[in-house]
Amino acid sequence: TLTQVARDTQVFDLIGKELHRQESGIELIASENFTSKQVMEASGSCLTNKYAEGLPGKRYYGGCEVVDEIEQIAIDRVKELFGASWANVQPHSGAQANTAVFLACLNPGDKIMGFNLAHGGHLSHGSPVNISGKYFQPIFYGVEPESGLIDWDKVEATAVREKPKLLICGASAYSRDWDYVRLRAIADQVGAVLLADISHPAGLIAKGLLNDALEHSHIVTTTTHKTLRGPRGGLIMLRHDFENPFGVTTSKGKTRTMSSLLDSGVFPGTQGGPLEHIIAAKAIAFGEALSEEYYNYAVQVQKNAQVMAKAFLDKGYKIISGGTDNHLMLIDLRPKGLTGKLAENTLIKADITINKNMVPFDDQSPMVTSGMRVGTAAMTTRGLVENDMERIVDLIDDVLTNHDDDAKIAAAKQEVNQWMAQVPLYS
Ligand code: PLP
Repeated sequence: TLTQVARDTQVFDLIGKELHRQESGIELIASENFTSKQVMEASGSCLTNKYAEGLPGKRYYGGCEVVDEIEQIAIDRVKELFGASWANVQPHSGAQANTAVFLACLNPGDKIMGFNLAHGGHLSHGSPVNISGKYFQPIFYGVEPESGLIDWDKVEATAVREKPKLLICGASAYSRDWDYVRLRAIADQVGAVLLADISHPAGLIAKGLLNDALEHSHIVTTTTHKTLRGPRGGLIMLRHDFENPFGVTTSKGKTRTMSSLLDSGVFPGTQGGPLEHIIAAKAIAFGEALSEEYYNYAVQVQKNAQVMAKAFLDKGYKIISGGTDNHLMLIDLRPKGLTGKLAENTLIKADITINKNMVPFDDQSPMVTSGMRVGTAAMTTRGLVENDMERIVDLIDDVLTNHDDDAKIAAAKQEVNQWMAQVPLYS
């Protein structure tokens, strides 16, 4: 029986090692965060056993009464959090949420327009190695070489020339806010649906610290695990439901609303059974995000990013676009004579985790890169504040300046480990 199953020490030993890694180092990967214990508890719960294809109250399986209640709580809370009128909390990931949108809005071969991956965009917005670039016809907009900013006039000119059916905004490594009003005007001008993928800044948008993506975008997707601080997963939202502009009808010839097309785009379109254990964890995270404490966290994430950006600039680092509005920044390491790969590999020796990242107009390959991306969400969750950001930048600069000096790197690692021991994470 199950009570006699031997504990898998091989895997649990490794989980223990990973916990130690997370607790003893400085985590600056902009797409990561630390969830609460209760979020992790729900994701490891008995709900993993349950099949629940369909939606609350309309399932293809019996025994869904309890998970129906849980999923409905997740939907209600996230609607309140973002001021949405409709949400689907089932996408297994951010990329899956985007794929469900494509299925709901497009036919194979249709044109989509997204932010260039090489300038900080995401794979799922039209990259040739992703389904979005293989099954649809992608075109891209990017940033200006001098300013590192998106020129909305150029986005408009490209959209008018190319007439995409779907215009996608949102990024993985863009530190500035988005002009959703302008983007919606461009989408309306060319008859496109505007999709805002707010995966990175979702937590800041939820608390009103950045422009409200929901009011002006037709559709909003996000991951739930970045600034939002939930379990790994995805989400689709609408504030204003609308009739599908491309004339998709039911078998009875009725026009379908976008919410109904998106529900079908998730299931049965691109997924099978929802992960109800993750949906329960999402519900808990959304509840946490509704709190005053979370508002304070979000404000601090943004403050920390601004202080960190200034500290890097003061030490002569080049930040793309010159600063940040959100939780992250992209640093061009070329003026320092370093590559992203060298920076990532050196910093990890001091238990500081960042990721190498292409910078706009990069001359290095994606495996080497000229940049590094850093974000403040995870360390803000850990309780660090403005002066801690300055100390982190001092440490990073010390390690990168002395990347050949093993003794200096070892000393930095010791400082990192001693510091992190003073700010406990879980244990
Ligand atoms: N969209 C954006 C803008 C992202 O940055 C990411 C992840 O980094 C995703 C989508 C994909 O999310 P996931 O890894 O959950 O598929």
